[in-house]
Amino acid sequence: MATMIIEGDRTKAASGKTYEVRNPATGDVVDEVPAGGPADVDKAAQAAAKAFTTWSRLPANKRAEVLHKASQHMLQKVEQIAPILTREQGKTILESRIEAQRFGENIAWFADLADKIHGEHVRLPDLTTYGLVVRKPIGVCGAIVPWNFPLTLAANKVAPAIAAGNTVVLKPASTTPLATLACIEALIEGGLPEGVVNVVLGQATGEAIVSHPLIRKIALTGSTPTGKKVMASAAEGLKKVTLELGGSDPCIVLDDADLEGAARAISVGRFFNCGQACLAVKRLYVQEGAYDALLEKLVARASKLKPGNGMDKDSRMGPMHTETQRAEVEAQVKDAVDRGAKVAHGAGRPQGGDYDKGWFIEPTILEDVPDGARMWTEEVFGPALPVRRIKDLDEGLRLANDSQFGLGSSIWTTSMAAAYRAVQEIEAGYTWVNALQIAHDELPFGGTKQSGFGKEHGVEAFLQYTEEKSVVYGGM
Ligand code: NAD
Repeated sequence: MATMIIEGDRTKAASGKTYEVRNPATGDVVDEVPAGGPADVDKAAQAAAKAFTTWSRLPANKRAEVLHKASQHMLQKVEQIAPILTREQGKTILESRIEAQRFGENIAWFADLADKIHGEHVRLPDLTTYGLVVRKPIGVCGAIVPWNFPLTLAANKVAPAIAAGNTVVLKPASTTPLATLACIEALIEGGLPEGVVNVVLGQATGEAIVSHPLIRKIALTGSTPTGKKVMASAAEGLKKVTLELGGSDPCIVLDDADLEGAARAISVGRFFNCGQACLAVKRLYVQEGAYDALLEKLVARASKLKPGNGMDKDSRMGPMHTETQRAEVEAQVKDAVDRGAKVAHGAGRPQGGDYDKGWFIEPTILEDVPDGARMWTEEVFGPALPVRRIKDLDEGLRLANDSQFGLGSSIWTTSMAAAYRAVQEIEAGYTWVNALQIAHDELPFGGTKQSGFGKEHGVEAFLQYTEEKSVVYGGM
């Protein structure tokens, strides 16, 4: 049975309660897990607060050294961790390997910053005084993670937090705790001191983290409704919050675009991780002259994405993570079809044999989806893509911004002027121009509008795990 990681303890829930984690491809039980609650969060927060007193005072270059060593150790375990992730989440083993690798690399990337970010010296009008701006870690930080990219999204929070000298109480999604535990355990084996990152498990631990008085900052990746609840509850304790929430990323393809490159990026962008990505091409707007050729290429690519158990090397797309998620995407597709949309590919379930045991779904492309359909107005968190013909860039930009969300966006064109307008006018935290939607370590990532606020990745994320203090030295 898996256990929580609280300082030196590998512990069950205080209540003794447990629940089962099941494989989305087979329905089999992968492991039994403690169903933690407020008492466990309290223990973890106390442990993190204790560890903060030593971790935050470690010289920054030493902290960097510890984190590099720990990440190197963790990276040697990618081959052991990836199958755990596939079994609990459903994604293909290739996707799991990439994700586990990214976890270690993310820790190392922020370790590099640990001793490079500093405060400043400020001249004051009175020459017998001078000012300093000192940058300090915040304290204990809460990290709350969803199930779609359990490792990437945990690392996005844990890595900048601990590199800056904070300690963490981490809560994975209740359905995907196991690979996260393995990663944190590997960091500890590699030399990360006990108590710097504590992992609590179970649905009820999320709210307890947000309301715990010792936890000073909350970073959540999750749905927009959860983000609103977390922000309201965090307001009670005036905590800092970073909210990475839902998205419905538009992609505009103009007549002059490299259609092969666009088709590849859109296909990866929509179908990677069985479409369960915050940054995914979720609305496609194609100019008339490129429409037929691009659609043909997209359908050809989708037809090669064989759904299957993620552990099977021939599978190109795992199952959806839960039955509820699949039902939601199917309902969104049905809504579009009922309103008159035309199915260009998919829109069903692969059936028979092992397919009937898991939450499998076909990659789906729909044309002529009418205005007002759920696929345009809601986030589609699965492998289904609505495509619409547009007259020109103006129409594309208008439709791109006709959404409550503002996470990612992309444009394919060879016109510098068109690309420039998209960069200026699309309301989103990221715009890719003729490029695959990859969230780079070097660039700050985060949304606008109902997609949340605050940044992960980049120097900006590190800074958000620090507080500035002004100091005046007098009597010079
Ligand atoms: P979710 O909002 O249901 O849950 C996310 C996490 O929050 C889970 O660990 C959950 O247990 C916890 N939680 C739920 N209610 C809580 C509360 N009241 N207080 C504290 N914690 C609470 O999201 P999900 O279904 O697991 O994930 C899918 C959603 O996440 C999608 O909307 C997706 O777009 C979004 N997402 C966003 C990003 C991003 O970076 N913007 C990345 C990935 C996923």
